Amino acid sequence: MAKESKPGEPKANLIEIPHSVAVRQLADLLQVSAIDIIKQLMRNGIFANINQVVDYETAAAVAVNLGYEAHPEPRAARIGGSKRYRPQEEELSGLRPCPPVVTIMGHVNHGKTRLLDAIRQTNVMATEAGGITQHIGAYQVEVNGQKITFLDTPGHEAFTAMRARGAQVTDITILVVAADDGVMPQTLEAIDHAQAAGVPIVVAINKIDKPDANPEIVKQQLADAGLLIEEWGGDVVCVPISAKEKTGISELLENLLVVAEMEDLKANPSRPAVGAVIEAELDKSKGPLATVLIQTGTLRLSDTVVVGGTWGRVRAMFNDMGKRVRKAEPAMPVELLGLDSVPQAGDTLTSVADEHQARALIQKRQQEVQQQPSLVPKAVSLENLFDQISAGQVKELNVILKADVQGSIEPIRSSLGQLATEQVQVRIIHSGSGNITESDVMLAIASKGLIIGFGTGIEAGARRLADVEGVDIRSYDVIYHLVDDVDKALKGMLEPTYVEVIDGRAEVRAIFSSGRREKVAGVYVTEGKVSRGASARVWRGEQIVCESVVSSLRRFKDDVKEATSGYECGVGIKDFTDFEIGDILELFTKEKAS
Ligand code: GDP
Repeated sequence: MAKESKPGEPKANLIEIPHSVAVRQLADLLQVSAIDIIKQLMRNGIFANINQVVDYETAAAVAVNLGYEAHPEPRAARIGGSKRYRPQEEELSGLRPCPPVVTIMGHVNHGKTRLLDAIRQTNVMATEAGGITQHIGAYQVEVNGQKITFLDTPGHEAFTAMRARGAQVTDITILVVAADDGVMPQTLEAIDHAQAAGVPIVVAINKIDKPDANPEIVKQQLADAGLLIEEWGGDVVCVPISAKEKTGISELLENLLVVAEMEDLKANPSRPAVGAVIEAELDKSKGPLATVLIQTGTLRLSDTVVVGGTWGRVRAMFNDMGKRVRKAEPAMPVELLGLDSVPQAGDTLTSVADEHQARALIQKRQQEVQQQPSLVPKAVSLENLFDQISAGQVKELNVILKADVQGSIEPIRSSLGQLATEQVQVRIIHSGSGNITESDVMLAIASKGLIIGFGTGIEAGARRLADVEGVDIRSYDVIYHLVDDVDKALKGMLEPTYVEVIDGRAEVRAIFSSGRREKVAGVYVTEGKVSRGASARVWRGEQIVCESVVSSLRRFKDDVKEATSGYECGVGIKDFTDFEIGDILELFTKEKAS
């Protein structure tokens, strides 16, 4: 990223630029206004708007004009929490090319399911056994002698839910956009979810058989959304298809292979297997069944495996055709029998030597979670942000921004973009209008991010999930407060927020003088407790007449620390003497919000 240079000094700054970058992002990177970038582009004969994405060469030329030395950002610099299985150094020699695992995403009714069916019908690997595919959550097809694995649950929600559970199995995503409907809200969400995971996108413009299909408009809309297809000078492959008439399917599949080759996907088939559960259920007669996608290594019959919190020996395995198999290699989905109990989708499968090792591994995992839950940070919060930055755990603050209206997003985005410090960048991985949804929370978990709402609500399911998973949701109505909080959090200056906990209530039944000017209320504690030093409010009907602290507390003649419900006591309130019979004392303490 850009390094500081003093005014007047020549900027001999090194800058890493992504292989495609929106004008707005480039402006942030180069620390100039977007207008300056647009002017520079115009000098090079390119007329771009602020959202337009330019390729590396174009961006680099602008950077050089502005006095930077430009370098392409390494592909590994993608964001995303959980990644695909990464081989250890000692296994590198055993690496072999591995089929890509593909997920289909896109707006509802744009044809994801129909495309999955079309691919399955035209290209299912063996047509033996009548070619009846079993539903095991994933299937493989063969194209030009090479395999491709498809996950059968389309949609970015399922994709991100898996990531949130720590499993990233997808290598490439197909973004389906209906040519008669264009880019829609879930198309944009899908783009953000795929990009947050660093998964390359291949666009399939579907329904081109329809008379009102307009693929050109779709391409324009994609560019506006920051996804620039090859035809427009970007690097995103785009294939027109009709899932209904099965046209363009083989081009799409061939293009997936090209992208897979560029991604250089490899795994080591000769090591013990590691995989991810894509679905699991309890079968009444067969017992626990789990569909697992092998990510590296080879899983064999009779292998002992640990899967999430359970374990077992592989009693039988079935491929996507329902055929018994003896082994499963990388990128192959299999249904396996023999586990002790039903694991969860997203759990990791690990082959181990024997039962002893399996039990030891399960115990170790359980202990890690029980003893040091803090060692497994699920998400950042504005309050712990500075600690995490200081500990080197956070280099980017991933933000999901939801606003009441689309128009609020841009000013917030640009203000937040300017807050980057030496140690940490603020990156808005998803923005949109509308309520905060479960899918937003999933994305926050998967990307270790936080959610900021501006003038918008939180869906009940999203609130529950965020509470369980410890995802920080911040709501604001004033942009200044929002930006100020994030700024303070980045600098470690954010005051903790406190929530009020009501400790008790008491009713004033008598008033006594104590000393010359002091008054004490004789109260009956109706709920909870009254304690000395607690904060107190005096309510008179609907009105608060005083807010202070309990300065003295007596039962009969004795000073006491607290009096509980059902007892009478004498209460003095600091700087308050104006009690009336019938007043209600409300006692409360403030606790740091978690
Ligand atoms: P999903 O919600 O994205 O999974 O969409 P579906 O696959 O269920 O498709 C939605 C509707 O669009 C269904 O009625 C499909 O038959 C129809 N559809 C899907 N692909 C095509 C296509 O290529 N051409 C036409 N004309 N209709 C399609």
